[in-house]
Amino acid sequence: MPKKILIVGQGIAGSVLALTLHNAGVEMYIADQLQLKSASSIAAGVINPVTGKRYVKSWGFDTFYPFAKDFYQKISQAAQQPIWFDYPIVRLLGSALEQNDWNLRVGRPDYEGFTDVAMHAGEWQGLAHPNYGFGVIHQSARVDFSAVCSYVQLFFSSRNRFLDKHITLENISTYLPDFEHIIFCEGYYGAQNELFTGIPWLSAKGDRLLIRLHTDRVIHSMLKKQIMLVPYGAGVYWAGANYYWDFEDTDPSQTGLDFIQEELATMLHVGYDLVDHSAAVRPVAKDRRPIIGWSKDNPKIGIFNGMGSKGALLTPYWAAHFAQHILDGISINKEVDIERFG
Ligand SMILES: Cc1cc2nc3c(=O)[nH]c(=O)nc-3n(C[C@H](O)[C@H](O)[C@H](O)COP(=O)(O)OP(=O)(O)OC[C@H]3O[C@@H](n4cnc5c(N)ncnc54)[C@H](O)[C@@H]3O)c2cc1C
Repeated sequence: MPKKILIVGQGIAGSVLALTLHNAGVEMYIADQLQLKSASSIAAGVINPVTGKRYVKSWGFDTFYPFAKDFYQKISQAAQQPIWFDYPIVRLLGSALEQNDWNLRVGRPDYEGFTDVAMHAGEWQGLAHPNYGFGVIHQSARVDFSAVCSYVQLFFSSRNRFLDKHITLENISTYLPDFEHIIFCEGYYGAQNELFTGIPWLSAKGDRLLIRLHTDRVIHSMLKKQIMLVPYGAGVYWAGANYYWDFEDTDPSQTGLDFIQEELATMLHVGYDLVDHSAAVRPVAKDRRPIIGWSKDNPKIGIFNGMGSKGALLTPYWAAHFAQHILDGISINKEVDIERFG
């Protein structure tokens, strides 16, 4: 008998999981309280293979990246709009130390095809300040999260399978008899879900700006120093982000605005207008791995969360993994299983 599953939360995690299960033949429904602020609605959707101060290759990149590219490109075809952008990253290196560390990476065989040395800032030359050195990151991309989420919402609402509802401990019993499973993809709000206690959350708030650069140049690469500048089309660029682990609210903050503008001043040689300033919270577990599995209180109720700052890269692969677990009974990988928290 075909399964009937309700997904709660329609950020990138809920959207991708719902579509993956639908494609596997499951009768899918999605509920989202649309008034809540989602991380997916403000994220740049960047996939960056080499991150951090030490330029380390992302966990599982060689496995997750081709999977993600194939998944998003298929949605792009179905939605008939561009969703995946193959944008390289121009890395500004601000000191001899940074350049030295970068060159060490470029020389390593396992970084071949990912990192290069450049003589200048490429498309950004003249718009970016002169720097100590330049690198280029390949196999990076931008995924348009808003386009994915809009497509998925339209897909399910046009089939009368989208509920604009807040599902809570108080009202879940209304829905449980109708579904074989209810899976929570609540992002940061999952930290308050009493069906899944004991998760060591380390969620991080982030601000981001949208800016309009004072140039007519059309750019197809991202610019990275401490923060990232990402082309959003029509002369608008996404700029961010900061990480705050201690925060009192999820509103855009003056400190966040100041930080991003100060960083922009070190990167850009060109003026800009501020178009928007927003903030949201990344759902992060302490070990920075996704959180997948079932509630101890009720094994019909699942969780798919913890995509952290890498939702674009991680979500398609782990959604397929969870789908295989639900449909074919494969074990959940121990690295992402909620059971790892005991
Ligand atoms: C500033 C910033 C920049 C980022 N940049 C990137 C980036 O470049 N690349 C990248 O890969 N990642 C990035 N991220 C991280 C990325 O946003 C997350 O990994 C991802 O969006 C998490 O998706 P999610 O679906 O788990 O959560 P969310 O996007 O937060 O979605 C959760 C959804 O659940 C709904 N919801 C919650 N509880 C309930 C409930 N009880 N009932 C009904 N609905 C509910 C909410 O309304 C919301 O729509 C960034 C994050 C931030 C904040």
